[in-house]
Amino acid sequence: MRIILLGPPGAGKGTQSERIVERFRIPQLSTGDMLRAAVAAGTPVGLQAKSVMESGGLVPDAVVVGIVADRIEEPDAKRGFILDGFPRTVDQAIALDRMLTEKGLSLSTVVEFKVDEDALVGRIAKRAEETAARGQAVRKDDTPEVFKTRLAAYRRQTAPLSAYYEKTGMLRTVDGMKPIDAVTLEVMSVLEPHAEAAHS
Ligand code: AMP
Repeated sequence: MRIILLGPPGAGKGTQSERIVERFRIPQLSTGDMLRAAVAAGTPVGLQAKSVMESGGLVPDAVVVGIVADRIEEPDAKRGFILDGFPRTVDQAIALDRMLTEKGLSLSTVVEFKVDEDALVGRIAKRAEETAARGQAVRKDDTPEVFKTRLAAYRRQTAPLSAYYEKTGMLRTVDGMKPIDAVTLEVMSVLEPHAEAAHS
């Protein structure tokens, strides 16, 4: 099962990914996590990505596409994967299509989290507070100012993916404003019909 989770920052993609990983035993491929690891490790990719991530903009398509192309070659991704935070532009979506076609693979489904964007700033503030309370480092881009830039990048560059996947007939939407467990129920009901593939 190969799925994409689509939705603005703070929509709950990461939280639901954890549950999907547990249920279907496929890895979550979060480009944000991979980029943060590259920044922390000071790799060439990390050096390229650091300032743009801190300002809330998008890392160049070629960089991110390269990371994903390598990651889906890993053995744990053979049975499928969850893409969280990728693709984020139509060009990335086109590159992904090409990548999968070359491997004789296809996507199973795209799950879009519909949320009230005004509520997201509050959610992000809460995420930062909870992270700090656990004694963990708070993401530098989880401040209200940078978050607004991230949301603007989403509206301008990522939101058009909805129409892109709608045309393929693969797009399914869930109500991301419901309580976490209720969203999980919706997500699972979208994914279950594709579960056969996950076990093959
Ligand atoms: P996220 O953890 O998904 O919120 O991503 C954090 C930041 O990483 C984003 O604000 C971007 O700067 C960068 N990023 C993550 N995924 C992508 C992507 N697919 N394309 C471009 N930039 C990305």
